[in-house]
Amino acid sequence: MKHLIIGNGIAGINAAQAIRNGDAEAEIVMVSDERFPPYSRPMISQVLDGSQPHEKLPLYSEDIYKVLQVRPVLGARVTDLDVDNRSVRLADDTRIDFDRLLIASGADARKLQAGGLDLENIFYMRTEAHVRRQLAGIADAKQGLVLGGGLVGFKAAYGLLKRGLKVTMLITSGYPLSMQVDEVAGRIIMNELLAHGLTVKVGVSVTGFEGNGRVARAVLDNGEPLPCDLVIIGKGVRPSLDFIPRDRIDVDLGIVVDDFLQSSVPGIYAAGDAAESIDIARQVRWVNAIWPEAAAQGRVAGQNMAGRRVRYPGSLSRNVMRVYDLDVMTVGYANPGKDEGLRLVSTGGENQGYYRRLVFRDEILVGAVLINEIEQGGVIRALIENRTPVQVPGKVLMSPSFNFSKLLK
Ligand SMILES: Cc1cc2nc3c(=O)[nH]c(=O)nc-3n(C[C@H](O)[C@H](O)[C@H](O)COP(=O)(O)OP(=O)(O)OC[C@H]3O[C@@H](n4cnc5c(N)ncnc54)[C@H](O)[C@@H]3O)c2cc1C
Repeated sequence: MKHLIIGNGIAGINAAQAIRNGDAEAEIVMVSDERFPPYSRPMISQVLDGSQPHEKLPLYSEDIYKVLQVRPVLGARVTDLDVDNRSVRLADDTRIDFDRLLIASGADARKLQAGGLDLENIFYMRTEAHVRRQLAGIADAKQGLVLGGGLVGFKAAYGLLKRGLKVTMLITSGYPLSMQVDEVAGRIIMNELLAHGLTVKVGVSVTGFEGNGRVARAVLDNGEPLPCDLVIIGKGVRPSLDFIPRDRIDVDLGIVVDDFLQSSVPGIYAAGDAAESIDIARQVRWVNAIWPEAAAQGRVAGQNMAGRRVRYPGSLSRNVMRVYDLDVMTVGYANPGKDEGLRLVSTGGENQGYYRRLVFRDEILVGAVLINEIEQGGVIRALIENRTPVQVPGKVLMSPSFNFSKLLK
């Protein structure tokens, strides 16, 4: 049996491990356009902020491909997938055939539409190569500009502040992390960043960059020039699926997969940021582009590819982060629209040093935001994952001494 894995990220490498565990004889080929060994992608933000050295990025020792008996094809981009002939074509025209395929191609940074993007010191933030170039650019930079208030933009701003730059963040949504948290939490987080020197501009976007070789200013859509000598673009990600024939494989935002992470084509699987599976909290298909889900999906896809029948329970958005003096945890569907009829329960808020918000669909807890009181976060996450009905009144749930583990069945 010949397995081909596209992508050497956490989903791809976990799948290779699972295939090897299940089948000592299988041939495994792994193609990736990155040459760097499998690494911790979230950690590039810690390399940027200086809390981790670049050398800590790799997840395994250099001989990982040898240990797993995987043939790596690195620095090679898949450009076409031929479903009928069960083969892929690489950019240099090489063909690789397969019996079973895993698409673990992750996601690309969403491209900004603006002029002057070819100036020096304008970066995206997705790969080890990006952070290496950012660090070189930071050396003599003073004025950072971050586009986007999502997780990556937010981590970029934090990193540049920590490196001593003056930083302006441009966000369209009104407050940072608006995909993860509600407005109250967003303001608490924003205030923490403002207290540490961040400048935030909301409701504006960049139309272009100007400079002489190197970026010197951004031009905003209101015509205002904004001086900057280093720019990081963090406007979200899109599954990296250029090579997928959409008339042959079901694709929504990501590759649509079933409970066994198989795509609409038998023998072709998808995992990680490239895959769209059932979201436990929302109960619809969703791309939850987060590390632990990519890791879990890679493992489950690999087990299924090796011939076991392993069900994937669905994905759940979650994140824990430290923002200066704030511990922030988000789980599930924590920021639903006002017209969705979900029940919200909260305590604490701005200037109170803590905040807790729970989101319910009927009796089912579907989301939570916790700031500075995250000790019970693990139990709250388990309640969301298990879809445990909660019949306790909101007021009781919000009392400081309430023990959530009493609700676990
Ligand atoms: C700055 C940053 C901070 C993050 N912070 C967090 C966090 O705090 N918590 C969290 O849970 N998640 C975080 N994430 C997200 C997390 O890193 C991703 O969810 C995870 O890495 C996805 O793994 P993956 O294996 O699916 O894809 P990837 O890690 O993207 O790997 C896919 C690989 O496939 C390659 N590839 C793509 N297309 C092709 C092709 N056509 N041919 C050949 N190779 C191809 C890519 O180059 C890449 O090497 C962060 C991400 C970034 C960038």
